[in-house]
Amino acid sequence: MDNRQQWGPGTRAVHTPVPSPAAQEPSSFPIYQTSTWRFESSAQFAEVIAGEGQGYVYGRGYGNPTVEAFEAAVADWEGTEAAFAFDSGMAAIHTTITSLTTSGDAIASSTRLYGGTHSLFTQVLPRYGIEVRFVDDHDLDAVAKAMQGAKLFYTETISNPVLAVPDLGRLAQLCREMEVPSIVDNTFASPYLCNPARLGFDYVIHSATKYIGGHGDLIGGVVATSPSRRAQLRKLALDQGGAMQPLEAWLCLRGLVTLPLRMERHCATASALAQWLADQPQLSSVHYPGLESHPDHERALELLGGPGGMICLEHAGGLEGGMRLCDGLQLVWIGASLGGTHSLVSHPASTTHRQLDAAARQRAGISDGLIRMSVGLEDLPDLIDDFAGALREAQA
Ligand code: PLP
Repeated sequence: MDNRQQWGPGTRAVHTPVPSPAAQEPSSFPIYQTSTWRFESSAQFAEVIAGEGQGYVYGRGYGNPTVEAFEAAVADWEGTEAAFAFDSGMAAIHTTITSLTTSGDAIASSTRLYGGTHSLFTQVLPRYGIEVRFVDDHDLDAVAKAMQGAKLFYTETISNPVLAVPDLGRLAQLCREMEVPSIVDNTFASPYLCNPARLGFDYVIHSATKYIGGHGDLIGGVVATSPSRRAQLRKLALDQGGAMQPLEAWLCLRGLVTLPLRMERHCATASALAQWLADQPQLSSVHYPGLESHPDHERALELLGGPGGMICLEHAGGLEGGMRLCDGLQLVWIGASLGGTHSLVSHPASTTHRQLDAAARQRAGISDGLIRMSVGLEDLPDLIDDFAGALREAQA
């Protein structure tokens, strides 16, 4: 690099020196925003790409320090030995399923699923000859039956959108007894409220887009698991694509720093708002694991570090009343996603779960008038005022 000063501006721009990691630990991990890495020799490149030597190769899942820092943080949160990060929650789910299955296999899954996962299971997997056996995961006998000869069992900690909480400990135990790998989507709980690997789950998946990122500014996913299972996921990501990129990893790392503060606030506001909503005569029901009226209330208290930031409500006026209520909200936005700073409402029957037919929606507990709310970080009195106004308007 001695002749740097003699280089033209193009060469200097390309070969700007990259400082080696500082001797002292920075409070914010650097973003290694690079797709490729230089090797000292062809032999070194050959060694590293063959997995026989330490080093970075390329940004499509071969490794990146920022992404690895995020993976290490998630593994630490979830109590697993490893994690692998993806560029979306769906990539994480899809790759986990395909790492365990091949054409002709069957898998067992809870009926209560995020709409995108349901769509993957009903519209994509069957095209590759994978049969999906849907089962009520609150019925352990039915789960055991569905798992006969199945390659995996799949469920969600707090299921989207009716907020059911299955008995994760007993499900994991059953999977162990039957030697069926167990997978749980822990997105709604976040690693702050629940760590299903500590209850025996083999794979814990997050849409990092939600509470982990926490600010509505990234799309990402992550799977916490064992090192050998991580290696299988990584191998598929190399061939299929879908690995997380450094900027997203950095945003997720930053999100994790404030996860406890945000989750405490989401839970406190959602609890108080759910209580208030439950007293409103215009609403026929309010689903929230923190309410005593919720069928899984006791289990939620036992399994979760808090009741979460998601509430589902049903307007007595059905579809029309529910839509009018959403439209009347000013502070709370109508929009997709959850787990961010802004409170959001959505209408699953016409949006996230529109691909389910009426019977499948009914099985999943999604009525036409159901409204899903992600409680953000706004002040409780302002949210109550907003709902009070919208409820009045929806009635008029
Ligand atoms: N799992 C759950 C519970 C979700 O709510 C979502 C998205 O809403 C996903 C997975 C998919 O995640 P992503 O949108 O990051 O692909």
